[in-house]
Amino acid sequence: MKFENNLAFAKTLDSADNLRDFRQQFIFPKHNDKEFIYLCGNSLGLQPKVAKEVITRQLDNWANYAVDGWFDGDEPWMYYHKELKKLMAPIVGALPSEVCPMNTLTVNLHLLMVSFYQPKGKRIKIIMEGGAFPSDQYAIESQVRFHGYDPKEAIIEVFPRDGEDILRTEDIIAKIEENGEEIALVLFGGINYYTGQWYDMQAITKAGHSIGAIVGWDLAHAAGNVPVKLHDWDVDFACWCSYKYQNSGPGGISGIFVHEKHFGDTDLNRFAGWWGYQENKRFKMEKGFVPEAGADGWQISCTQVMPMALYHASLQIFEKAGFIEALRLKSITLTKYLEFIINQVNIALDYQQYKIITPEEFNSRGAQLSIIAKEQGKRIFDGLVANHILGDWREPNVIRLSPVPLYNSFEDVFVTGEALLSISKSIL
Ligand SMILES: *Cc1c(COP(=O)(O)O)cnc(C)c1O
Repeated sequence: MKFENNLAFAKTLDSADNLRDFRQQFIFPKHNDKEFIYLCGNSLGLQPKVAKEVITRQLDNWANYAVDGWFDGDEPWMYYHKELKKLMAPIVGALPSEVCPMNTLTVNLHLLMVSFYQPKGKRIKIIMEGGAFPSDQYAIESQVRFHGYDPKEAIIEVFPRDGEDILRTEDIIAKIEENGEEIALVLFGGINYYTGQWYDMQAITKAGHSIGAIVGWDLAHAAGNVPVKLHDWDVDFACWCSYKYQNSGPGGISGIFVHEKHFGDTDLNRFAGWWGYQENKRFKMEKGFVPEAGADGWQISCTQVMPMALYHASLQIFEKAGFIEALRLKSITLTKYLEFIINQVNIALDYQQYKIITPEEFNSRGAQLSIIAKEQGKRIFDGLVANHILGDWREPNVIRLSPVPLYNSFEDVFVTGEALLSISKSIL
């Protein structure tokens, strides 16, 4: 498609967009009564309008049933997570038995490493992307220490080549092969939070397996953003938060994936709790942990009904939108349009003020573009906010903008470009 940098063109794309009405289902933040253009769904997704209602419904269940709410009512809490499992599965390309909502992301990363990072003999190392999200770095570092190893020796980070911003798949695979027998676990973020790069998950998973390692993914920036096929790609485990692209609210419930090939493995370590116990015998309160089949066997504590109700409501919006395929098609064009518009700003300034470090290839990115502002980045970012455009800022000079197909429009992108140009002209 040949893009044009004008409002009429953006509006034409919006009127051809079958998903355009979904934005009505979300609440946009406001300042002085004017709504923001929200390009920050990579950090915290918007509140669905139905959120209040679903929370009120659960408060009513609690009020009306009290303890009997676990087994009575329209949505007995005892089985409530199963409703979510059905809807989570298509978002990450899994079987419903392979996913489960529980806890929060970093907690789940730890729990899954307890099971899937089992260093033995020479095979003790974890390979990960350099510049991973700090929480993942800390989790991995502390897991390695917990097993008695020095993170400097047991963690291999893969960095981009000198002068490059993103990782080459061939370099990741070479590093995996080079360290073959010493690698216990390959653990990457599906999409890097800083650069927006979507790694070739299938190729990396395959490379990890070819040297005999376990392969896990942190899908914080990928789940609900890009189509992943965890089951078919033979991924061992994964986890994600639901408050970024899946709009489940701050601190929202996390999801885990464990491939069904591991269900029968009784040697896996786990940190157990009563909610992971066999469901039909849970209330016999017997001694000796026997896990429930599937991903549910990793649960520890009883169902967190309130955050799950929010995630449930959001998943139902995804279901109406056709889960991920249609959203992804729009997302590819929306982000490409943003890229075009940023380049138009550079052309109008007659200067490469904005350098997009996110890969150009659509198969190597999701919604987000990470843009280096060569000069006066923070002032320009603040100017955008003053103009009711909310992206996010990462030191020292990166502006991240993520047009989200559920609630952003092509007009949003065009207006952002116009503002960026006038702010840049006034500051530079
Ligand atoms: C957002 C994000 C987190 C956040 O972890 P929480 O435990 O939910 O606070 C962790 N890892 C990555 C890669 C993220 O993008």
